[in-house]
Amino acid sequence: MDALKQLTSEVMSGTDGPSAIRDSYARRCPQSAAEYAEALRLHPGGVSRNVCYWKPFPLTMERGQGSFLWDIDGHRYIDLLGNFTTLIHGNAYPPILRAVEKQLPLGSAWASNNRAQLSLAAQLIDRVQGVEQLRFTNSGTEAANLALLIARGITGRHKVLMARFGYHGGLHEFEVGSFNVGGPDTYLGRYGDAASFEQLLDQHGDQIAAVFLEGVLGAGGMQPAPADFFNRVRAAAGQAGALFVIDEVISFRLGFGGQQGNLGVGADMTMFGKLIGGGFPVGAVGGSVEVMRALDPEHIKAWHSGTFNANPITMVAGDVALRELTAERIEQMNQLGKRLKQGLIDQAQRLGLPFSVNHAGSLLNVFFTSKVPADITQRDDHALITQFHLACLNQGLMIAGRGMFVISTVMDAELIDEVIDRAAMAMADLAREMIGSGSTPP
Ligand code: PMP
Repeated sequence: MDALKQLTSEVMSGTDGPSAIRDSYARRCPQSAAEYAEALRLHPGGVSRNVCYWKPFPLTMERGQGSFLWDIDGHRYIDLLGNFTTLIHGNAYPPILRAVEKQLPLGSAWASNNRAQLSLAAQLIDRVQGVEQLRFTNSGTEAANLALLIARGITGRHKVLMARFGYHGGLHEFEVGSFNVGGPDTYLGRYGDAASFEQLLDQHGDQIAAVFLEGVLGAGGMQPAPADFFNRVRAAAGQAGALFVIDEVISFRLGFGGQQGNLGVGADMTMFGKLIGGGFPVGAVGGSVEVMRALDPEHIKAWHSGTFNANPITMVAGDVALRELTAERIEQMNQLGKRLKQGLIDQAQRLGLPFSVNHAGSLLNVFFTSKVPADITQRDDHALITQFHLACLNQGLMIAGRGMFVISTVMDAELIDEVIDRAAMAMADLAREMIGSGSTPP
């Protein structure tokens, strides 16, 4: 856990010492500060999810509507996080609200099938080529767990291979990979570098049950990879007798058939999550009939349970969310992504800040480094990005602490221009703080 401690302290560095940005954040959010004191008594670290932890204290939100969130001090934020890419149609999207309101009086969960689950499953199967059958779970983490159980059941092997700084949820096997430390059951290749995966499969293939790759390296800094990378890793996995899993929990929003559809690549299994639940807890694993047969009680190789799997509330919400995620809307979000990227680059240049952006469609990750880091291990802007996150919040922008900006279908060009203006003010605050601390921007 030393690596974990080190990473946490790196991420938190730069928040100590004098900071006008932090002081102004603390001054403008007294109610959130007071709530956090109580939260600290009730939760370790005062949060129920580590990614919601930041110094000096995280905000408490009161409501969300469309592209906006409001905190308990009454401030409005443009929601550029969408619960980490989940809220593809923004907050409280009326068609989803209507579907859920219709379902609620009919019951929220029962231990039988419901029609909405078939409708959502059929949509996913229509959209993703290699997915012929699927099972629902309650989170992406559970989807990863299920995919791993299936792979273990089919291959009789135990280990996994994934990318350094890949993220497939909180299961121990994957969490060690996200912290780049590896572990007894986890081998790590380098995202985008097929040879590193081929080599590991060559050496250890007979122990590896499955290879997991994200459609884009999301938590690892929104790094895309070309089709050739996926094709080579899939071929090497196949040769080693391991299953190949594409994790589209984040990247599914990038194309009508996910990022794999955009690239024309396939997988033995695909993981889904986040947006396919329309804002409610969800995950899913799909694959060919042959692979998914591992879960069929008549041919069982892996056991799958879950009290809330395919509950009708999540299913009706997800069914609407996916139906309304048309190819046109994806393209519209992608165009807004380009506009936002260029606007942020222009503003950073104007202020003379070192700045770079990783960009995939409606997903951006910014870095205060002159070049995008080759991988997140080489990210050395922790202090700056930490302050920029607070500065953005001060300017009414809700972004991820690691510098991720997410676009939803309910945003338009005018709102993106407002985001750019507000981000420019946050950058100016950051530049002032750098000058104040003696580290003048170049
Ligand atoms: N896979 C990816 C690519 C993710 O980004 C995440 C969550 N951020 C997960 C899996 C895990 O999903 P969940 O948080 O729903 O468990």
